[in-house]
Amino acid sequence: MEQTFINGFLTALAAGLVTGIGGLGIFLKKRYLKSEINQLLNIAAGVMLAASFFSLLEPSMDAIVRKGSDVYISALKYALTVFSGVALVWVLNMMIPHEHNEIGHHGPHFDIKKAWLFIIAITLHKLPEGLAVGVAYGAEDLVNPLSLAIGIAAHNIPEGLTIAISMVAAGNSKLRAAISAGVIGLVQPLGALVGLGLTNFGYGFIPYGMALAGGTLLFVVINEILPETYGAKDTNKSAAAVFIGFIIMTYITMVFKD
Ligand SMILES: [Zn+2]
Repeated sequence: MEQTFINGFLTALAAGLVTGIGGLGIFLKKRYLKSEINQLLNIAAGVMLAASFFSLLEPSMDAIVRKGSDVYISALKYALTVFSGVALVWVLNMMIPHEHNEIGHHGPHFDIKKAWLFIIAITLHKLPEGLAVGVAYGAEDLVNPLSLAIGIAAHNIPEGLTIAISMVAAGNSKLRAAISAGVIGLVQPLGALVGLGLTNFGYGFIPYGMALAGGTLLFVVINEILPETYGAKDTNKSAAAVFIGFIIMTYITMVFKD
């Protein structure tokens, strides 16, 4: 158990720090267009969708049905748990004021307050992401947690870049922006500690923890990332980016299945 705890925490730490690598992307280009950022975040959304289904929702579904004696009751418990995950982040989201990203819209008249609110929002959503990694490590015999961690790490790259761009928009230097992205990434290992702690409640709790974490991730994608990036003008391009992310993550999941 102790080894699981250390592995889970260190992997979540490494994945979280990838946010800083994404932040370094701020030095690669003089200026990023909103459409470019959006497409990167759409790929990240596809990765997260596949990760929540393949690494959390599906394996926990299996485990819960296998354990229960009445499939109707098991299914009901499962569905309610997934919805609890959704509701949990939803309520948190309503309690904390935050703004969806408007980078590039206003050019030089970028609203500093909006930039900060966006940074707060993206920081907070990293908590459920880390929680998911922690729970997956607690459930090592139900799922290979590495594929979920790789998915989270991959999606941290465009997210780190968005954080850095928002930091620059809020008046910080590029170096400070990149470092901040790395620091914000540390919220994930914190979330992982919570997830690992939860799975310590006993083996019976683990599939429910996974279902709950799956619900929180789905909410993050559906209410935070997609509304942010899904430009109504060019849905084909956005859809293509989401599917690219989904397919990449599907491949990663299969490769690390055993
Ligand atoms: Zn994220």
